[in-house]
Amino acid sequence: MSVVKYDGRRFETHTPVLIVGAGACGSIAALSAQAQGVEVLLLERDAKASGNTALSGGQIPAGGTSLQRSAGLMDDTPELLFKDLVDKSRGGCDVALARLIAHAAGPTVEWLAQRHGIPITPILDFQYPGHSRPHMHATPSRAGAELLSAMLAALDREGIALVTSAQVCELYADDDKRIRAARVRRPDGAVEEISCDALILACNGFGGDKAMLERYIPAATELFYEGHAGNQGDAVRWGEALGASIKDMGAFQGHGALAWPAAVHLSWPTVTEGGFHVNNTGRRFCNENTGYSEHALRVHRQPGHQAWAIWDGRCEAIAIRQHSHQQAVESGCVRRCESITALAAVIGCEAAALERSIGDVAACAAGLRKEEFGRDFTHKPSLCPPYYVSKIVGALTHTQGGLEIDTLCRVLDRSGRPLPNLFAGGGAARGLSGPADWGYLSGSGLLMATVTGRLAGEAAADLVHAKG
Ligand SMILES: Cc1cc2nc3c(=O)[nH]c(=O)nc-3n(C[C@H](O)[C@H](O)[C@H](O)COP(=O)(O)OP(=O)(O)OC[C@H]3O[C@@H](n4cnc5c(N)ncnc54)[C@H](O)[C@@H]3O)c2cc1C
Repeated sequence: MSVVKYDGRRFETHTPVLIVGAGACGSIAALSAQAQGVEVLLLERDAKASGNTALSGGQIPAGGTSLQRSAGLMDDTPELLFKDLVDKSRGGCDVALARLIAHAAGPTVEWLAQRHGIPITPILDFQYPGHSRPHMHATPSRAGAELLSAMLAALDREGIALVTSAQVCELYADDDKRIRAARVRRPDGAVEEISCDALILACNGFGGDKAMLERYIPAATELFYEGHAGNQGDAVRWGEALGASIKDMGAFQGHGALAWPAAVHLSWPTVTEGGFHVNNTGRRFCNENTGYSEHALRVHRQPGHQAWAIWDGRCEAIAIRQHSHQQAVESGCVRRCESITALAAVIGCEAAALERSIGDVAACAAGLRKEEFGRDFTHKPSLCPPYYVSKIVGALTHTQGGLEIDTLCRVLDRSGRPLPNLFAGGGAARGLSGPADWGYLSGSGLLMATVTGRLAGEAAADLVHAKG
């Protein structure tokens, strides 16, 4: 993946806006640019567009949407979402971008639902850690595959050209860093070159590239990588070659409850609704409810690099609404136990130790005991049999560092000036998490992908119009 000096020649194929990657960011950028009356071409390396978007839980946060109001939630606002983003990142994110994104999230979700017929509704049955209101929105199965296929259907309806099995391998840039064209490699070795007026990088981060992980986030190399293999860091490599500013490269989204060995997410109500995690000895080891991202390394650092999630039927009734959780159940990872003795047998620990852990949590929930890790259990009822249990491991979901962009999603150079016609969004851009794993607010990934996709598409179209 490199940048080649443009030598002034003409290319056979031209498109005003060229987009690399057909996940949520690229698909939405295409819909958005085309809505401004500009022709776009979307290139995707895989034979079938998937990306992290299709692997995801498909949940997008937004505050104060008409969809929330119709469902009876009247007091969520974009400002609350903004504040939640800034608070979770401990002020370490780009605050101006976070504000813009939080305010554009509602209109983007409504636009997807109302203009493009994507069946998104608010999730009101539980609230993620760090969300001051239930901000999430998703399609019925709470599965990214359903969300992406609805986006691809919208592309189809709009007559937008999506070329798959088309891996962008080189960019042509002239001396002022203006992107002139991209070179595309096909699986049979054929090469095509396409010139453009504006280029949008929507090809996500570098979670699938071991060498880049070792360089930027060595701790994450120990985690199971559950993201898409095609996240090879191409945007960062091109950006570095063009002198772009790259920020927060140590940040990532982890997930601390990957049902094992199925390697799918237990839905987080298994924690938020009063469930908790123990290690192989039957003892709790931290506050599980600060966020699933930072929890990944905590689970990984337990004996055997694993732990056990315990929850009950009340939590399960909410968790099962998420597709990945259904997959965990179907895989046999989730066991139902009528007693603590049966639970201990599944975990392989002493029943007395587990009984103590469960009893301590119940005492905390009843307000009779101070919780040792700072978690507040008092808002939820104590767990009661039947219990549910699954072995869990910590996972690396996606990287959060990337190209620094401004509020028009223009890629900035190292002195803070925008490159002439290069835009980035989604996982290709620096996320909203600040510098580490603890700054990721649930849903931040798709929030970035959808909103920056829309903004980048509009800004690229404006650039094309301005060129005339
Ligand atoms: C298991 C899992 C669960 C998740 N759950 C959630 C959730 O519920 N909510 C949330 O907000 N986030 C979630 N995320 C994160 C979220 O999926 C991502 O942040 C988001 O999908 C990123 O979208 P994107 O369009 O930037 O990237 P992607 O969806 O990964 O799309 C990038 C595309 O670019 C293509 N590509 C890469 N390089 C090239 C190239 N050189 N040429 C052509 N094409 C290229 C890739 O093949 C890929 O299709 C989850 C992630 C995972 C893995």
